[in-house]
Amino acid sequence: MKIAFIGLGNMGGPMARNLVKAGHTLTVFDVVKANVDALVAVGATAAGSAKHAAAAAEVVITMLPSSPHVKSVYLGDEGVLAGAAAGTTLIDSSTIDPATAREVAAAASTRGFAMADAPVSGGTGGAEAGTLTFMVGAEPQLFERVKPLLGHMGKNIVHCGGAGTGQVAKICNNMLLGIAMVGVAEAMNLGVALGIDPKVLAGIINTSSGRCWSSDTYNPYPGVLPNAPASRGYTGGFGTDLMLKDLGLATDAAKQAKASVVMGATAQQLYQLLSSQGAGAQDFSAIINLLRKTP
Ligand code: NAD
Repeated sequence: MKIAFIGLGNMGGPMARNLVKAGHTLTVFDVVKANVDALVAVGATAAGSAKHAAAAAEVVITMLPSSPHVKSVYLGDEGVLAGAAAGTTLIDSSTIDPATAREVAAAASTRGFAMADAPVSGGTGGAEAGTLTFMVGAEPQLFERVKPLLGHMGKNIVHCGGAGTGQVAKICNNMLLGIAMVGVAEAMNLGVALGIDPKVLAGIINTSSGRCWSSDTYNPYPGVLPNAPASRGYTGGFGTDLMLKDLGLATDAAKQAKASVVMGATAQQLYQLLSSQGAGAQDFSAIINLLRKTP
């Protein structure tokens, strides 16, 4: 297929490379020239704007930092809707708020384009390996159309419902992850302060009712799991500032929905505190360092 790929950063770069590997013809655009050059080196063609990239494509995929970028790339004068030919399919894989996803999808629909929101989980490792999970908000026929293409970049392609529901699934899951990590950090820290070995405590939790992904796969206590970021100084993994972004999206969306997110808002403030102490680039499991006594 002829695909326009816009936003070639940590996630978009490897995702676009996987599409080239799968034999698709890519036209790419990013405001950072080095990111475009890296894709041209593996066979993609550079475009001078989102509008020009879209003009050459049957499908447009975007992977941008946040809502304002998505709005300007789709709705701006040099944007996708200004350039795309009739019948072009649009897929936004950025993590943004559901309201903006629905607004941009509605603007696309008014101009005759079908648009899916398809945020991902799996991080940069999943983007490289082509094993991402896509949470897709789209009409059923559109979902069936985009599923094979997303399958070149991911291994779980899940239909969540109509426009915006991919973003809803993503921010609800990540809000729960943020909350659960704080809970595991508190329990591990309390146990160690009361004299239990952290590995013994983690073993009990992981065969008991407190078990969750943050305890058994990503434990925040150093040395409990050799491959977790906690055991390598909280490097790599899922950055505190990215978690903070997703918790901000969840708490903002909760305000609009008038839904209470007491724990989510508390977690958001805790990660804000961690970030303001200079740990924004560390893995989010470093939240335990807000609780641990400094030796
Ligand atoms: P990134 O900042 O590395 O990449 C974004 C890219 O978009 C950059 O290359 C930037 O130059 C480009 N860009 C910005 N404005 C543009 C514009 N107007 N036109 C064209 N290009 C533009 O971010 P990322 O880590 O690749 O994340 C992308 C999205 O995926 C975000 O919404 C993020 O929340 C989400 N996400 C990230 C991860 C992760 O682990 N990094 C995991 C899941 C989801």
